[in-house]
Amino acid sequence: MSAPIERMCHRCLQPLPHKAARCPNCGERPEGTIRNLPALLATGGILALAFLVWIMIAVFRNQQFTSAPSGDQNGVTQEQAKPPAFDK
Ligand SMILES: [Zn+2]
Repeated sequence: MSAPIERMCHRCLQPLPHKAARCPNCGERPEGTIRNLPALLATGGILALAFLVWIMIAVFRNQQFTSAPSGDQNGVTQEQAKPPAFDK
């Protein structure tokens, strides 16, 4: 007596029969609506992640490029990098 509910109508949220091509309640076609949603979300998430990684790589390369000694900042980083070896 336990029928597994695999699909639900996305319009009226009623459980659909197995062989129902349309919702018997409202007549909406349930094909591909519920199965497409996780795939769409996963694709969007992967795309967003790839975009984030790409931006991070671009920013990192940009920082390396600007922090390289090319005469733009005169000796500021050299002064900070000097170790205060005055213990003994
Ligand atoms: Zn329905």
